[in-house]
Amino acid sequence: CGIVGYIGTRRCIPVLMEGLKRLEYRGYDSAGIAWLEDDEISLVKAKGKLLALDRKLDGVRDTKSFVGLGHTRWATHGEPSEDNAHPHMDCKRQLVVVHNGIIENYYSLKKQLEKEGHNFLSDTDTEVLAHLIEKYLNGDILAAVKRALQDVEGAYALGVLWKGQPDTIVAARKQSPLVLGITEDEAFMASDIPALLPYTNNLIFIDDYEVAVLKKGDLLIYDLREDKIVDKTPQEIKWD
Ligand code: GLU
Repeated sequence: CGIVGYIGTRRCIPVLMEGLKRLEYRGYDSAGIAWLEDDEISLVKAKGKLLALDRKLDGVRDTKSFVGLGHTRWATHGEPSEDNAHPHMDCKRQLVVVHNGIIENYYSLKKQLEKEGHNFLSDTDTEVLAHLIEKYLNGDILAAVKRALQDVEGAYALGVLWKGQPDTIVAARKQSPLVLGITEDEAFMASDIPALLPYTNNLIFIDDYEVAVLKKGDLLIYDLREDKIVDKTPQEIKWD
């Protein structure tokens, strides 16, 4: 399983697909990508190999979208299927989430969210994250993600994109790998280094309980527990 995210100056779909291809070695049963264009989030998902996803992108691969998220899934909750493939969205289709890991308390969170009127479209544990973040969203996606994660038990590497702040991706990690990359006018996230190397070798490794804000050419990392900025400078990774 793997996640990728991109915000910058290139058309994002080819960047996301190349990143996912470079994470294929991690194993997966389905895949999907989401991108933002003209205040609209689009989702394309497919069961099976990346080739199946790639075929569905015929005609949209060149979309003028410069921010998006991608995912390869290794199902833990809910069978491998198109509906259960990530990314997942909230009820209003205003935000999108990719996640690797397991939300241990997803069942009680889901029951509570359903009581509050949230409608679920998949059998995954991950979808609770989308609805939980929506529940706490009040003008700032970073604040909403931080608040949602206080309610969550389990392991995660995640990426979140909200159409209200199209210049921002929020990423977070606990017990699942996550690395960020940066160039002058771009920012990247991925589960592992090979996904980023075609684009940059200026990397920042995210530790457990860290949340990151990705903008074009800018990365900010926060400690989730202490609510303060963590000072991390990119390392230049040499890799042949
Ligand atoms: N637990 C999530 C699911 O089953 C994420 C699986 C993964 O890490 O790919 O959808």
